[in-house]
Amino acid sequence: MSNPYDEALKIRDLAVKHNKFFEESIPLIASENIMSPLAMEMLVTDFGSRYAEGLPHHRYYQGNYYVDQVEDLTIDLAKRLFNAKQADPRPVSGTNANTAILFGLSKPGDTITAPPLSGGGHISAAKFGAVGLRGLNLFNYPFDVDDMNIDIDGSIKLIKKEKPKLCLFGKSVFLFPEPLKELNEAFKEVGTKVWYDAAHVLGLIAGGKFQDPLREGADVISGSTHKTFPGPQHGIILGNTDDDTWKKVQRGVFPGVLSNHHLNSMAALGVTIAEEIEYGAEYADKTIRNAQALGESLSSLGIKVLGEKHGFTKSHTIVADIRAQGGGRHVSEYLESCGVVLNKNLLPWDDNKKSQDPSGIRIGTQEVTRIGMGPSEMKEIADIISMAIVDNREVDQVKSRVLDLKSRFTETKYCFGKHKPYSYIELFNPGE
Ligand SMILES: *Cc1c(COP(=O)(O)O)cnc(C)c1O
Repeated sequence: MSNPYDEALKIRDLAVKHNKFFEESIPLIASENIMSPLAMEMLVTDFGSRYAEGLPHHRYYQGNYYVDQVEDLTIDLAKRLFNAKQADPRPVSGTNANTAILFGLSKPGDTITAPPLSGGGHISAAKFGAVGLRGLNLFNYPFDVDDMNIDIDGSIKLIKKEKPKLCLFGKSVFLFPEPLKELNEAFKEVGTKVWYDAAHVLGLIAGGKFQDPLREGADVISGSTHKTFPGPQHGIILGNTDDDTWKKVQRGVFPGVLSNHHLNSMAALGVTIAEEIEYGAEYADKTIRNAQALGESLSSLGIKVLGEKHGFTKSHTIVADIRAQGGGRHVSEYLESCGVVLNKNLLPWDDNKKSQDPSGIRIGTQEVTRIGMGPSEMKEIADIISMAIVDNREVDQVKSRVLDLKSRFTETKYCFGKHKPYSYIELFNPGE
């Protein structure tokens, strides 16, 4: 066993290599993004060493004079960006925000309706995830594969029959807006609370380019702040609901499901919200246009992109049925070796046994858009993917095209200040 110092430096070396790997790759995972320099700076502050249980100005610990001001500012900025009546920036992740809402707004034995996993629903909305942990009766909306969306008539029937306490919307494969307006009458009839999980599309909603759930009937929105929303790995809850409901949600957050709310990432979130107020509309618009352009290009190269009936996507995501090219597992692994990073994904007709080798892949354009790529680069990415998995070219040939493309995009956009993405920031001084 080598000495601990060497082991520590080995970890650091792996981090440097990881950064370089992403610097030289085309990042297409639909749930990831990169932060602005100001947000990253917040992560290494002393905020990351403190506790601030409770709400601003009503804390259990001393030392929160500046933390309270950061949290007040973050709440105000979030209300402004999302035009929300309420905002809670404490959840430390999207799943944590979801668990808080379940804790605050439901009791064991209550009924919830949610999108099915096979239609892109997230594990936190599953029996074996947070919904199961809360002991709820779960009913899934029927899913229409042609529309790549939940079936409206079937969902109205389901809601009226089961009279759920909570109606959950939002998915991890999220191509088209949820039909909230169309279901509004059913919500009213049964008196349910409407919860929209915006983990994937929070940045698109921030930019006003996808749908506006708080105006379409949602009582609360939960979200991750690091997918299309280009902030730190954190979570948020937004509300347009009555004070009593909001109080229950906030008690769900603390003391319900967290103690420390990761004050450094909350500060990074506040900074990112300010940047989104400035740049969010343009960023969301370009992200969606890029996804549509990539869908068009891949389709024209003979790859079966889903959702064709509605122009492939209205979000940052496209999904393709890749069985003819060797299946999701082979395609995602071969592309990774070429420097194109995306994930394999279950498609609606796959059963769970196929989760290690599903029929599909999922692609997101939010990160390549963030570094300045546009529609002509989407065409280039489609060519690169096709070269690898349709023409079966050698890894080295594909890789050199990846490097050539990526080396032309060396700046994080839609944020304050300048930064070279994926560059490693050195703080450590080895001393004598
Ligand atoms: C990613 C995701 C989450 C979970 O977010 P984390 O921040 O990873 O905990 C929740 N819901 C949906 C729909 C997601 O896609």
